[in-house]
Amino acid sequence: MNRKYQRRIEARECPFCGDKWIEVYESRYGGFFVGCQNCGAEIGNPDREEWAIESWNDRWECDCEN
Ligand SMILES: [Zn+2]
Repeated sequence: MNRKYQRRIEARECPFCGDKWIEVYESRYGGFFVGCQNCGAEIGNPDREEWAIESWNDRWECDCEN
């Protein structure tokens, strides 16, 4: 894996599968990502880790598919 680091974080559960195994990592090629380790769903931000985490939580809020 081309990741500088990876660690588990406290975040909203995955909007797709409901799993709470969420991890954040920084890509060796730049950018930060938050991803569900169960189903592989992920979201990223090119600049800051905490913004990637915010995006993950915001996406949970904005999940409009029912
Ligand atoms: Zn998931």
